[in-house]
Amino acid sequence: MAGKRNRNRPDQNGVHRGAFKRNKKKIYATQTVCGICGKPVDFNLKYPHPLSPCIDHIIPIAKGGHPSDLDNLQLAHWTCNRQKSDKLVARSDVKVQEVISNRVLPQSMDWRNFRKIQAEAERNESKAISEQKQSENKEKAKLKQRVML
Ligand SMILES: [Zn+2]
Repeated sequence: MAGKRNRNRPDQNGVHRGAFKRNKKKIYATQTVCGICGKPVDFNLKYPHPLSPCIDHIIPIAKGGHPSDLDNLQLAHWTCNRQKSDKLVARSDVKVQEVISNRVLPQSMDWRNFRKIQAEAERNESKAISEQKQSENKEKAKLKQRVML
């Protein structure tokens, strides 16, 4: 999945790739602080160190941001950039969950109460059955009485 997405990312493919690489070099040469948290970036740290430098798209490409324009790129810590995209993902996940919870009601059910509710339902059902039997018996008794009379 991830590989597929990366291949489709315009900044890593095709016309924007060259511009992105050039602007990345420019940013690494001119910027020193993370555009997301505002703290200094240590260029000696290398990926996958969480504080290693990376290029952040100020407006994410997925949100219509430019893939390679210098104005849409900034220096960032890898982890800050990651958290930013996680937040974007989390926000869209919430929407999906809202839709699901409206449709799939059992997921929102309190299963600790389920047995209680079920037991109550069964009790009510057996009560209804015994009441029905009782009234049936009464009917039978009435019929018997009529026959006897
Ligand atoms: Zn940062």
